[in-house]
Amino acid sequence: MSTQLIDVIGNTPLIRLNRLSDQTGCEILGKAEFMNPGGSVKDRAALGMVRAALASGDLKPGGTIVEGTAGNTGIGLAMVGSALGHKTVIVMPENQSLSKITTLRAYGADVRLIPAVPFRNPNHFVHTSERLAAELNETSEHGAFWANQFDNVSNRDFHEQTTGVEIWDQTDGSVDGFICAAGTGGTIGGVGRALKARNPGITIGLADPGGSGLHNYYAHGEIRIEGQSISEGIGNSRITANLADSLIDISWQVPDTDAIPLVFDLVQDEGLVLGGSSGINVAGAVALARELGPGHTIVTILCDSMLRYQERMLNRSFLASHGLSMPEWLVL
Ligand code: PMP
Repeated sequence: MSTQLIDVIGNTPLIRLNRLSDQTGCEILGKAEFMNPGGSVKDRAALGMVRAALASGDLKPGGTIVEGTAGNTGIGLAMVGSALGHKTVIVMPENQSLSKITTLRAYGADVRLIPAVPFRNPNHFVHTSERLAAELNETSEHGAFWANQFDNVSNRDFHEQTTGVEIWDQTDGSVDGFICAAGTGGTIGGVGRALKARNPGITIGLADPGGSGLHNYYAHGEIRIEGQSISEGIGNSRITANLADSLIDISWQVPDTDAIPLVFDLVQDEGLVLGGSSGINVAGAVALARELGPGHTIVTILCDSMLRYQERMLNRSFLASHGLSMPEWLVL
């Protein structure tokens, strides 16, 4: 029996993290989003936004998908675009690693590199991608669609309809807490809605990396940025449309000194090779397990693979320069 590529996005397994579950007396479960065909949780956002745009007519058959992104969303969009017959144009800052640019080009994206400037500058890659989409919409034969992952709530809606429902079903409704970091907020916003609709007593937690203002917002009511992190794709300095009205009950700021050693432990203890944002998430799950106490079921997201960040996460001098400990087996 054969299937279409986009039909294997989602329906990921929920994996028990054995050592941490045994240590905390909770069931700590990771949603294996790295198993999506494009390798990350963002395949869902990409498919959700493209499907909604096709349904509304914002994206026409054969139309071009445009986004400003430096990460997984670009890969998801390029993959979904290729599978459905759309060209994809990705605008990104030129200071990104060569492997990211190469990966996007391999997936068929037209990558436009522009100088890196702050978000408030009109030439920031997100604003540039919006203008480019408007221009291409006028000039290209089948028009163009700006995905706008931060404020396009079809990102969150897709997580509500898929990730959240899957977590509920896979735990037979026994989930007590869900926690993850937010980039666009699509995952936490959507999963939070799905779970709270089924059981308002479920605790939704935010695990925020250094360099983000979201923890202070949810804990103290004001966006204030503290610290820094080597994790990519997570943290924010504003409340996006996907994050707005999120049902977040509790939040922690997770330092890299907790998250990165944990990521290396997960390789040895569980055979899971995960990126930095998964480390923040799993550290958050342990904090939530301690908060709720033994006997609870906690779910988090395993977003993508460590191998996507090899140049940084598997590099002794990079880790040392950020004051992070590293395993002995790391040779480079
Ligand atoms: N982890 C990684 C590696 C990501 O690329 C992203 C997406 N930016 C996230 C976590 C956060 O997901 P979301 O955008 O749904 O908040």
